[in-house]
Order: sequence, then C-alpha cells, then structure tokens
Amino acid sequence: MFETDLHAHSSFSSCGLHSIVEVLTRAKQKGLQGQAITDHGPFLGRKTSSTFFERLENPVEGIRLFRGMECNITDDSGNIDIVEKFMPWYDVVLLGFHNYEVRDGLPDFYSELTVKAIEKNPCVDIIVHPNAPHYTMNFKTLADAAARTGTAVELNNAKTRLGRSSEQQTEELVKACMDSGCMVAVNTDAHALNEVGNTDVMEEILDRMNFPLSKIVNCTLESTLKWIQQRKKIRADNY
Ligand SMILES: [Zn+2]
Ligand SMILES: [Zn+2]
Repeated sequence: MFETDLHAHSSFSSCGLHSIVEVLTRAKQKGLQGQAITDHGPFLGRKTSSTFFERLENPVEGIRLFRGMECNITDDSGNIDIVEKFMPWYDVVLLGFHNYEVRDGLPDFYSELTVKAIEKNPCVDIIVHPNAPHYTMNFKTLADAAARTGTAVELNNAKTRLGRSSEQQTEELVKACMDSGCMVAVNTDAHALNEVGNTDVMEEILDRMNFPLSKIVNCTLESTLKWIQQRKKIRADNY
C-alpha cells in the first residue's frame, strides 16, 4: 500500500540489528521504492556519522535512501537532541519520547511538552509513536498542533503489532488525526529484518476507518519526495 517507509533502525542504533545495506535490500525486496534510516539521536547513544549524512548516497540500486534521525525530547523546556551540523543533509527528522522520566497519569503533560518542542524546533517533520506506553498523550492536543504547524503524526505499525499500544488506543489516535486534518506518516519502525516494509496492522485499521489517502505523506514515492522537499525548505529557512 505504501511506497516508502520513513522510520527504521540500523545497527547504528543500539536497538537495530542489521546494517543499512541489509535494511535497504530487504525493503527493496518487499517492494518499497524509498526507505529512511532513522537511527536514534545522541541522547540515546546514536553513533552519529558524518559519512552517513554527507557522503552515503543510495547504496542499494533501485531504492532511495532517505537519511534521517529519530530525535528525543531531552528536557521539560522542549529541547531536543538534533545534531545541527547535519541539518543540510536530513531528509527526515523524527521526534519522540525515549528514556524520559515517566509521570504516570498525566496525558496532558507529554502532549503539551511535545507541542512546545515542535514549536521550538521547526526542523521536526514527524512526531513518532504518540501512542507509545508510559508517555500517554492527549491525542486531540497533539493532532491539532500538528495540523497547525504542518508537522506529520506517525502511525507506527510496530507499536500496535507488538501490543505496546492497544488497537483501541491506536484507533483513537487515527480518529484525532482525521478530525484535525493533520498529515500522517505510516511507518514500520523496523528494528529487525522481518519488520522491514511491514505496515499490515495499520493498513487494516486505516482501511476500516476510511482514512483519506491524501493525508498520508508516504503513499507514493512521488508524494514522499514532494513532502521532503517542502520540509527541507523549512529547515533551510530556519537554520
Ligand atoms: Zn522511537
Ligand atoms: Zn524508532
């Protein structure tokens, strides 16, 4: 259903198992035309590499490599661990909570802090896994802010497939996105080869809910490239 994927990890993150070339090769086998490699920012111990950002170009023939980073919100002021020196090379910048202090039962805290972070950091393209456990969010607050700022909300296949978000919670997120009219990205968040190109659970939910395809940035290679160009211009204008 989707021609590109904008969220996957390689062994440059401590949690990804495979090399960049292995991930791209599998993505191509699965029929994808573009695959982002978005290893974690330095807050989570990414091995940041100028070779990856400045020199590596499409190492597997027949599939586009999108170079990205999955950034982290690092404090209550909405600062993030983006590596600014790579700004001209990012095709996609993701932002989410990882290893953040858990404050149970405060859904507004995490959504309001995310809104603060995207307003402060216009380099962010996609808010990832807002339906992750521990960092429960007010989906309406988040989706409305995404629509207002032009940031996309991620619909993360792995979180639902692995049962870390219930199907009901994911449906509530999808509904909030539909109500707000924000853009979404349907991503694998693949850490292992068997997860590459797999958006099965999200496809089924989106189909059932009649989600408008025009709001999905990564439906086609063409829609992805167009969106990436717009987002890169915002980075160029702001940094
Ligand atoms: Zn993540
Ligand atoms: Zn991830």
